[in-house]
Amino acid sequence: MRKVVVIGGGIAGLSAASFLSYSGFKIKLLEASPKLGGRAYSYTDKESGIPIDNGQHIFMGCYFETLKFFKLIGAEHNLSVQSHLSLNFVKENFEICPLTTSGSFYPFNLLRAVLNYSAFLPYEKLLFIKFFTKIYLYSNNDLKKLTVFEWLIKEKQTVNLIKSFWEILAVAALNIDIKRASAKVFAKVLKEIFFRGNNASVLILPALGLSETYCEHSVKFITSKGGDFFLPEQVIRLNIQNNIIREIITNKRSISGFDYVISAIPLYAFKKIMNENNFLTDLQMDYSSILTVHLFLKQNRFDRTFYGLIDSPVQWVFNNQSHLTIVISNADKFIKKPGAEIIEIVLNEMKKYFHMGKNEISAYKIIKEKRAAFIPSNNVVDKRPSARTPFKNLFLAGDWTDTGLPSTIESAVKSGRVAADAIINL
Ligand SMILES: Cc1cc2nc3c(=O)[nH]c(=O)nc-3n(C[C@H](O)[C@H](O)[C@H](O)COP(=O)(O)OP(=O)(O)OC[C@H]3O[C@@H](n4cnc5c(N)ncnc54)[C@H](O)[C@@H]3O)c2cc1C
Repeated sequence: MRKVVVIGGGIAGLSAASFLSYSGFKIKLLEASPKLGGRAYSYTDKESGIPIDNGQHIFMGCYFETLKFFKLIGAEHNLSVQSHLSLNFVKENFEICPLTTSGSFYPFNLLRAVLNYSAFLPYEKLLFIKFFTKIYLYSNNDLKKLTVFEWLIKEKQTVNLIKSFWEILAVAALNIDIKRASAKVFAKVLKEIFFRGNNASVLILPALGLSETYCEHSVKFITSKGGDFFLPEQVIRLNIQNNIIREIITNKRSISGFDYVISAIPLYAFKKIMNENNFLTDLQMDYSSILTVHLFLKQNRFDRTFYGLIDSPVQWVFNNQSHLTIVISNADKFIKKPGAEIIEIVLNEMKKYFHMGKNEISAYKIIKEKRAAFIPSNNVVDKRPSARTPFKNLFLAGDWTDTGLPSTIESAVKSGRVAADAIINL
């Protein structure tokens, strides 16, 4: 049985390890922290006893790789899948503007949803549809130097169209200001969501805490195939001779006797373990943050699963029954603020949009993820590395590798599957 060491127990590492286990490889997975899941995990809040996520994660129908992975590990029933696209955007004073598809006459049902979307003015609907029908025709070459903002302006999208739709979608997907995000990556996201069939655009939410949703199932699946997990155990260095990784030095021991190694850790961590052998010297990635605020409610009066806020620093509010989960993406300007100031900002927005008073809340929890996502700027998108490396038995996975997708679960799962295939097909 050929042996593979997987470094990193985020979703990319778990995906690689699962696909390899399925194909008969023996896995040893090393994870530096005491938990699996990396940037997508949950834990039980001590005060309330409620499982909460480090940040609300949204999947979509176009997460084909993720859905395949969930099926493999037997976790597909842990997902709550919309029957059709249904988004509730909200303006100030609790004015709800639904964007909902009905029927199955795809793609005309998408166009009908836009025509019924009350946040757009009539002439804007035409501008929107005109641009929408052209998206598929844009090639990577047309877009490679443009930011999302420049692309939208070129396509005559108004300030209101940008605020009421494009910006909310782009910031959720790319986690950065549209003036910095690559149009090429955004076009890939739009093509995946809107041009891959009727179900690609539906939203999917984890039905349980994230760790329960997929980490536990991954462990069960991989161990059932003879794999082992070691955590917390941090890889410090890879010893290389004649272009081959011979030894892995961790903070606990040295490991040898493996056939292949998959690194499924972020770029900054990979550079550290490669040290003088780092072959990605040209690639520098910057990161952007996500701020999550869980508001525990005395009584829940919200009747929708989630809301998208138009023109607010708070982009999404998820209704998790016992608590609301507030998401602030691209949160660098808020992340350094003290908790009291952050909660003040959030409550202000909740008051403006939902007439919500402080007295409705029994407690709150703020979670800051400083390096939530790499920034998909035009400087980095063409430099992302593939799974193969100059070292014969070393392969790369991680959401930042060359999947064409932004920093998402789908990118991480895909990278893991691609790295696994690179080994399986040797
Ligand atoms: C708050 C938040 C909200 C998000 N929302 C969404 C969303 O709605 N939809 C979506 O699709 N995506 C979302 N994302 C992005 C998504 O979580 C990430 O893209 C994905 O989890 C990245 O997975 P990964 O395995 O590539 O990397 P990571 O999750 O970073 O995993 C890397 C793992 O490697 C370990 N590690 C690092 N160095 C070492 C070492 N030297 N030795 C051993 N182990 C090491 C780390 O501890 C970590 O567990 C969100 C992220 C955050 C933070």
